[in-house]
Amino acid sequence: MSEAMLSIQGLQVAYGGIQAVKGIDMEVREGELVTLIGANGAGKTTTMKAITGIQACTGGDIRYLGKSIRGVPSYELLKVGLAMVPEGRGIFARMTILENMQMGAYLRTDTAAIASDVERMFGFFPRLKERQAQYAGTLSGGEQQMLAMARALISRPRLLLLDEPSMGLSPIMVEKIFEVVREISSEGLTVLLVEQNARLALQAANRGYVMDSGLITMSGDARQMLDDPKVRAAYLGE
Ligand code: ATP
Repeated sequence: MSEAMLSIQGLQVAYGGIQAVKGIDMEVREGELVTLIGANGAGKTTTMKAITGIQACTGGDIRYLGKSIRGVPSYELLKVGLAMVPEGRGIFARMTILENMQMGAYLRTDTAAIASDVERMFGFFPRLKERQAQYAGTLSGGEQQMLAMARALISRPRLLLLDEPSMGLSPIMVEKIFEVVREISSEGLTVLLVEQNARLALQAANRGYVMDSGLITMSGDARQMLDDPKVRAAYLGE
């Protein structure tokens, strides 16, 4: 079989003497929606930060499109189609919504196609269209999440990393965000989704990994994981 789009081998990350990620293996194949679930402090965000070069790895390797990207900074990764929507979103508060979205296209020169992608995002998120001239810092948490996703998608990534998109959002906003995640995935975009809402994440995903105290403790087909008594007891509140 050909190499996965993203492949993580023996990844370790430490903060000082504290080992947050203790040698994990994961892969994401082209076209898949893969989710990484687990409790608070399991190491999910640290894993995402290591993939995107925000946090240094202390061991192992991360390969993307057949090459090691260990230590490659996020702006370089964006050039090769790896985009991330970070936890906490990282939008530009003192720019308008439209300007934030256009920032997502800063590596592109195809003006007409950018404009049509902006319209497509407004189709996904009508609320952003209504407020396009407003400063992004004035948006609600859910609206900022939508904007961060729109900005990442406008870069036309090959692989989208989403870190806890449901965090802090109302059930209606969470539903809306997941609707878009399912839609972009069904259109063929490869997605790695970190989520604490294990049920929604596994319902949307093809495959899942469970992380606990820095280790992958379980992995498999998302449907099967949803039916697994251990997953149900530990992560689905049953
Ligand atoms: P959450 O869902 O709460 O965000 P998570 O699974 O994403 O949890 P991480 O944020 O990756 O977990 O944290 C993993 C461990 O690393 C935790 O014990 C956390 O306290 C620790 N940690 C995270 N960031 C730092 C940091 N900058 N310095 C020191 N320790 C950190």
